[in-house]
Amino acid sequence: MSQEPIVYRQPGISTDDIDPDALKVVERLYEGGAPALFVGGCVRDLLLGRKPKDFDVVTPFSLRRVRRIFRANSRVIGRRHRLVHVFFEGGKVVEVSTYPRPEEEEGSTPGDWEVLDAFRRDFTANALYYDPIRDTLIDYVRGHEDVRSRILRSISSPRESFESDPVRIVRGIRYACLLDFTIEEATGQAMKELAWMVARANKRRMQEELWKFLLAPRTDRAFRTFADLGIFAILFPEVTVFLDPEGPSRIWDYLAAKDEVPREELTHALAMAIFFLPLLDEVDGLGEGDPELELERLLLRCRETVEPIGRVYSLARKVRYGVLALLDAQLRMLRGPDGRRSRLVESLHFEQALRLFKVFCRARGTGADVLAAWEAEAGSRKRKVEPRRAYDEVEEVYETARGLGPDGEPRPRRRRRSRSR
Ligand code: ATP
Ligand code: MG
Repeated sequence: MSQEPIVYRQPGISTDDIDPDALKVVERLYEGGAPALFVGGCVRDLLLGRKPKDFDVVTPFSLRRVRRIFRANSRVIGRRHRLVHVFFEGGKVVEVSTYPRPEEEEGSTPGDWEVLDAFRRDFTANALYYDPIRDTLIDYVRGHEDVRSRILRSISSPRESFESDPVRIVRGIRYACLLDFTIEEATGQAMKELAWMVARANKRRMQEELWKFLLAPRTDRAFRTFADLGIFAILFPEVTVFLDPEGPSRIWDYLAAKDEVPREELTHALAMAIFFLPLLDEVDGLGEGDPELELERLLLRCRETVEPIGRVYSLARKVRYGVLALLDAQLRMLRGPDGRRSRLVESLHFEQALRLFKVFCRARGTGADVLAAWEAEAGSRKRKVEPRRAYDEVEEVYETARGLGPDGEPRPRRRRRSRSR
């Protein structure tokens, strides 16, 4: 790796893919007297012709100077990391990392901050800079070649890189699966050998990564790689039974069917509920036996799986409730919209429950008639849900799963009638 960058003029990035607010941030910094560059995943995506989800900017300005430019629309995020978030309408955030200006550091030359910044990143494809004002790509790590050939390569020695930050192992799997990159040999070898270190990774950062996996398409591909490397068993020991080829679990079919859910409809709870659909496969004679017993079995298994995974990855209560409520709804949906069950249509989470049921039926290749009946029921009824009631409803499912009544006291048996009223 050289300290001299390869500079590509007009690298073929479409201005249509650049977010106008992110561009505004770069322009304002330029006007303020400092260069500013896009860096990281956004540059990689721009080169691949994909619209980036978010834009990161680097500048050699100090935190104070950046704050002075964006004032009330910005906030410093941790001094150690020298980050400023610049806020725009609609909750959009552009992240600006700052570096000491060369004259602030003894013996440093212009460009040193770029080198430093590039080499602390994970993969070559993620360490490119793009100057949108001059339409120039700046490459210290031969990342442009790798993006063109779709190769995922660790910037530094892969062993050292993964040992110092095992989260990079799962990040690498995400890029390979989502962007169709081939993992370069030494990088792949180190991933295999050090996969066990994922157990030591920072839980909060792992949680962020896991959401990216669950909310993005191709989760089945990524989780299969996890399973092959033994990472699935480390991250989700409670549900390794899902992987048993002799068992009833259809996890791969469910995860594949998830890709049919439009991204804007895929809530956190729904994505997580899809991951836990195999809990329904464990119920013998699903949809045909005693509904109370089925529910009890499901809630028990939720307590053994959703709860501990939720605790380790600090899932919001709302998401945990949501998963339980959505799975519980499936038991009723399976039986069709008859009698009291049809009132499920009025509940706050009905649309998500219906989405989940579509995934469930699609993956199993059954239930098209029941699904159509629910859709017809939904079309014929007006939803008149009160948010408070819906919340109580979810809370009740959750407390039942924990074997507690609303007063927090153990509850011997749950009465279904009270909820569907
Ligand atoms: P995504 O499209 O999922 O957002 P991304 O590449 O933008 O992918 P981010 O997590 O947003 O990923 O991080 C932005 C950039 O920060 C990365 O492209 C990479 O250069 C750097 N980065 C993030 N996490 C790490 C890490 N664990 N180690 C080294 N560099 C990292
Ligand atoms: Mg990003």
